[in-house]
Amino acid sequence: MTLRLYNTLTRRKEEFSPIDPANVRMYVCGPTVYDYAHIGNARPVIVFDVLFRLLRHLYGPEHVTYVRNITDVDDKINARAKEEGVSIRELTERTAKQFHADIAALGVLTPTHEPRATEFIGPMIEMIEILIAKGNAYVADGHVLFDVTSTKDYGQLSKRSLDEMVAGARVDVAPYKRGDMDFVLWKPSDAETPGWDSPWGCGRPGWHIECSAMSWKHLGEVFDIHAGGIDLVFPHHENEVAQTRCAFGHKVMANIWMHNGFLQVEGQKMSKSLGNFVTINELLEARKFGSNMWHGKVLRLAMLLTHYRQPIDWTVDRLVETRSLLADWIASAKNQGDPNRVPSKLVEALSDDLNTPSAISILHGLGKSARSEPSVENFDALGSALKFLGLWESEKSDKIMGYGVESGTDQVDPVLVDSLVASRLEARKAKDWKESDRIRDELATMGIAIRDNKDGTTTWEVKL
Ligand code: AMP
Ligand code: ZN
Repeated sequence: MTLRLYNTLTRRKEEFSPIDPANVRMYVCGPTVYDYAHIGNARPVIVFDVLFRLLRHLYGPEHVTYVRNITDVDDKINARAKEEGVSIRELTERTAKQFHADIAALGVLTPTHEPRATEFIGPMIEMIEILIAKGNAYVADGHVLFDVTSTKDYGQLSKRSLDEMVAGARVDVAPYKRGDMDFVLWKPSDAETPGWDSPWGCGRPGWHIECSAMSWKHLGEVFDIHAGGIDLVFPHHENEVAQTRCAFGHKVMANIWMHNGFLQVEGQKMSKSLGNFVTINELLEARKFGSNMWHGKVLRLAMLLTHYRQPIDWTVDRLVETRSLLADWIASAKNQGDPNRVPSKLVEALSDDLNTPSAISILHGLGKSARSEPSVENFDALGSALKFLGLWESEKSDKIMGYGVESGTDQVDPVLVDSLVASRLEARKAKDWKESDRIRDELATMGIAIRDNKDGTTTWEVKL
C-alpha cells in the first residue's frame, strides 16, 4: 500500500518513502507546560496519533520511533511560576502530569520518547557552538543569535523571502541584533531565572533550538516526518530547519513536514491569548456543559470527522452528535474486534494523507452492515476499525497487542453506558427479557441506575 502525505515543504502530496523502513522516525512538537492544555492543543496530539498508528501498521510497531517533546524551559513558564509563587519545577511537573492525565482519555498511544528540554541543555549548547564555528551564529551582549542572512535557504519551509518576513512580522527589536529577523539561540539569565552554565555565561536556550537538539539526539540529523500545528510553520519550524541544516549541512531537516489546521471558535483560532478556549480537563469534567460527562473518545471522534488540514469550528452540538454516533457503533460491534485486524479499505483511506472523513464514512458503512446483517464477521470488522482508530479500547486486546495506551481515568465511561443502554433497548424490542435484565445488572455493577420512561426512552444516572 502506498502512503501519500501532504508535505508543507513542497506544498503537495507525496509518496512517503522512509529513509530506513526498519526505523521510521517522526517528531511532533509537544506542549509548553505552564497551564492546562486546551482542546486546540489536543488536535495535533490526536491527528498525529492516527499517523503513528498507521505507520505502525504499515511498517510494524517496533519499526516506528515517535518523539513528542515537553517544553519545560520557556519564559511563559517563568512568568507563571512567579505569578503563582511556586517553583518552576513544581509548575512544570504538575502541568506535565496534568497533560498526561488529560490526553490519556483521548485514546492516544504513548510516544516512543518524550524528552524534556531541560534534559537536553548539553546538546543545545553543542549545536550552538557548531553554529557559531560555522559562521551561522554570533555572540552579542550575553546572547547568541542566529544570523538569518548566513543561509540563503532561510524561508525554505514558509516560502517567504526575508524582505516579506521583515515587512510582515512582529519582530523583537533589540540593540544587540545584527538583523531584525535574527533569532535567539541562547540568552542570559539573572539570579531569579533558571540558567545553565555555558561558554556565554549563565543562561537559557531559546525555544527553537530545543526541538533541533531533541530531534537530533533521538532521531538523527535528518529524519522522516516533522509535525505540529499550522501556527508553528513560521517562525518555529522555519528556525528549527535553519539551525539543524546549518549545523549538519544537509539539504533538509526532515523529508516531510505536516501541519494540522486550527480548531476555531467563531472563525478564530482557539488560543490562550484570545481567551476563547476550553481546556481538555474542563471538557472531561464537564464543568462548563452542565451535567453531561464528555468522554475523551467523543472528543477524538469529533476531531477526526474533519480532515486534519482543514479548520474545525468548535460547537457543543458537534459533541452531542458525535457522542450518540460513537455509542451506536460501539453497541453494534457487540464486543468484537481487534486493532490488528483493521479492514484494508480503512488503511487505504488513511493512506491518502490521513483521510479521516473517508475513514468515518467507512465506519458508517460497517455500522450499517453490523446492524442489517448481524454476523461475527461484521461485528468484528466494525469493532476492529473502531479500535484501530483509537475510538474504542478493550484493555485485554490492547495489552496483548502491545498497544501502550496510557491508563484512562476511573470515571464512569458515558459512551460505554450509552452503548449498553442502546443494546438493552434493542433486546427489549426483541422481547429478549433475559438479555435486557443481564445488561441492567451489568450496569448496576458499574454503579449505574437506569429508568425506563413512558415515552420509550431510557435514562441513566450514576448512583452515589
Ligand atoms: P503550544 O503549547 O501553544 O505550543 O501548542 C501546542 C501544539 O498545539 C502546537 O502543535 C500548536 O500548533 C497546536 N495548537 C495550538 N492551538 C491550536 C488550535 N487552536 N488548533 C489546532 N492546533 C493548535
Ligand atoms: Zn518544536
